[in-house]
Amino acid sequence: MRGLVTKSTGSWYQVLAEDGSSYECRIKGKFRTQGIKSTNPIAVGDRVVFDLEPNENVGVIHELEQRKNYIIRKSVNLSKQTQILASNLDLALLVVTLASPPTSLGFIDRFLVTAEAYSIPAILVFNKLDLFSKEGLEILQEYKAIYQHVGYDCYEVSALENINIDQIQALLKDKITLVSGHSGVGKSTLINAIIPDSNLKTGNISEWSDKGKHTTTFAEMIELPNGGFIVDSPGIRELGVVDIEKGELSHYFPEMRALLNQCKFHNCRHINEPGCVVLEAVENGEIENSRYESYLSIFHNQNTRN
Ligand code: GDP
Ligand code: ZN
Repeated sequence: MRGLVTKSTGSWYQVLAEDGSSYECRIKGKFRTQGIKSTNPIAVGDRVVFDLEPNENVGVIHELEQRKNYIIRKSVNLSKQTQILASNLDLALLVVTLASPPTSLGFIDRFLVTAEAYSIPAILVFNKLDLFSKEGLEILQEYKAIYQHVGYDCYEVSALENINIDQIQALLKDKITLVSGHSGVGKSTLINAIIPDSNLKTGNISEWSDKGKHTTTFAEMIELPNGGFIVDSPGIRELGVVDIEKGELSHYFPEMRALLNQCKFHNCRHINEPGCVVLEAVENGEIENSRYESYLSIFHNQNTRN
């Protein structure tokens, strides 16, 4: 049978089969690593082939289909092991608030760079619209102008007062969507507004742990009533910048990518080189200052490799 992994504890997986039923599965045998060494061979979002054990309602996964993308987390301990958090994502949604808590342009840009590096289309959802003052609404328009100019769709909603939630529901239909954002921006409230009966299914998580199989749920997908899934994982709520090479960084800024290979030097880093078309575009306002500052900030970050 073929199915989609909708929940993972690291040793047990919940797989939604094409017949619409969910099965608890474990894994057997070696899996092709698909170019990545990770602590978990199977992740939420994976499409797998499994067999049911005779006389049991339990399955065994024996094949993993090629992933179109995946997001990882590096453990902070010395072993530096990599864990795959989720795969096959169609959309990365960043929930942004201008106040309580403020989301900085730098944070937004790091998220967008990460989504670009992972090849996941990204959108921005400005939440808490009901709280915006006249001044706040002006700042909102400035922010939206910056990102729409670069090609990112922006939405404005109030998760609490149910404003424009229908737009998000339509957008997420039939997609696997990752929801990210700072703590307190309203991710849970938004998910509950999108799926009125979801209650975020926290009960299910502890139920699984109680079985003593494993204590941590890495990630789970919440099914949308009209098709599609939302991926919710504590580890990915604040998506960190992946390992990026300095020379590649400008590829993850669409407005810089558009100028690719037009600088005088083919290995131009767009810092202070003569004949740099990126610097020119910053000077004449085609590239937003805040975006270029984020470029410099990520470029000089010690985790960005030479
Ligand atoms: P999370 O940490 O991102 O999951 O944020 P929560 O969903 O827990 O929301 C944090 C706080 O913001 C809660 O007190 C929510 O009631 C509040 N909140 C969420 N969305 C809105 C909104 O659209 N308007 C207002 N005024 N408050 C909101
Ligand atoms: Zn340049």
